[in-house]
Amino acid sequence: MLTCPESLVARIFKARYFPNTTFYEATLGGNPNYVWRSIMASQDLVRSGYRRRIGNGRMTKVWDHPWLPDSQDPDVGLILQTLVCVEFKDDWFWMGDIRGVYTVKNGYRWLREINAPWDAVWNNIWKLQVPPKWRIFLWRAITNVLPTITNLVKRRVEIPNVCPACGVLEEDVMHILCNCVYARRVWNISQLQIPNFGDHDFMQWVELWLGNSATSAGFLKDQICGILYEIWRARNMAVWDLALPSPLHLCVAFQHTWAAWNLNTTHGRAAALPPLLLAMQHDTLHQAAASLPHDAVLCSTDADFYGSQHAPTFGFYVRSPEGVFVAAVNGPLSCPYDPLLAEAMTIREALSWLQDHNYHNIVILSDCAVLVDSFWDVSSYCSYLGIILDSCLRLFNSFSTYSIKFVRRGTNLVAHALAKHVGAVHARSVWRESLPSFIPSDLS
Ligand SMILES: [Zn+2]
Repeated sequence: MLTCPESLVARIFKARYFPNTTFYEATLGGNPNYVWRSIMASQDLVRSGYRRRIGNGRMTKVWDHPWLPDSQDPDVGLILQTLVCVEFKDDWFWMGDIRGVYTVKNGYRWLREINAPWDAVWNNIWKLQVPPKWRIFLWRAITNVLPTITNLVKRRVEIPNVCPACGVLEEDVMHILCNCVYARRVWNISQLQIPNFGDHDFMQWVELWLGNSATSAGFLKDQICGILYEIWRARNMAVWDLALPSPLHLCVAFQHTWAAWNLNTTHGRAAALPPLLLAMQHDTLHQAAASLPHDAVLCSTDADFYGSQHAPTFGFYVRSPEGVFVAAVNGPLSCPYDPLLAEAMTIREALSWLQDHNYHNIVILSDCAVLVDSFWDVSSYCSYLGIILDSCLRLFNSFSTYSIKFVRRGTNLVAHALAKHVGAVHARSVWRESLPSFIPSDLS
């Protein structure tokens, strides 16, 4: 009712209970029916967690709506740091989620949609003895919220629906994780026993190995979950890095991850992975992943915070793929204390600079994995981060070729040192001859 006031349900309740205000200000009123009473029981929770994202400022009540970055501290400095972007309308966002989306609602919607057999799957997901990110991935796959090409096209993203792994068929969740020639080879090499794909959809197929009827069948559920996760990760590498790991490579890497996970968990189950067919011939699928154009530049980015005020700063460092210095830039950012937001704004600074200096083929490097992933479903973000991601995407689209890659922090030290150094000067600086002298030479 708050975020979708145009929905039928919201309009019905609005007409009866809060004709002249929004759900945020609504009161129980006289003679409430049972449903309205129940809804109002959650209003406090909703009011406590939602904040207003200021866009053009037209629809926000300055005195009544929570829009200050910190309601305990109406500090002018903080207010001036509020990002204003007049192209966006004011909107509600949920504070506890990087997308600004109230996720319990999604959970409930999902629960309503499922029927009994899925309850078992649902329960069994949380019993898997796997790293939480695998479990969450499986949940996202089952609820079909992964940003597959089919799902992006449904959201009107104008891209051709071609699977990033095989390059032939349309990509939906069942295709990329099971039916794709790439996935089939992975399953083959993994030697894991799995149910036939048949013409099941993904939920039906998961039910076969994770539902109650599958308990006695002896499927190695934890490992199936892990392989699914790894296939999706490989698929993302194909999208972002234009390099698809070979199925054999994927399985070997998975075996290491799985061994490390078992070593680090106290349940200490004996969990031997089926032996790999190590004599597999070299995989030629996508071996010819596009190499970088000759005039491409790499741009390492990092954000930092300076001093007790946590003033956000950025740094980026441009070089050729061979490592020839092109430029280094750093300076202050204007945003609230929010590491993810600062990282995204740093990428935006870098993209603007690269665009202004007529580079056409770029690779952006960031040590913030969450941010790199978030570029996958920008349209689902209604937090301030969404605005920055959206402007980054527009900038990205102005280049002939572009990609964004995650790099480990240990290999991003130059950009880190650049961002760190801003505090001393607090102005934008650009170096075009060589790296500034405060960067230790062993870093570059
Ligand atoms: Zn495919």
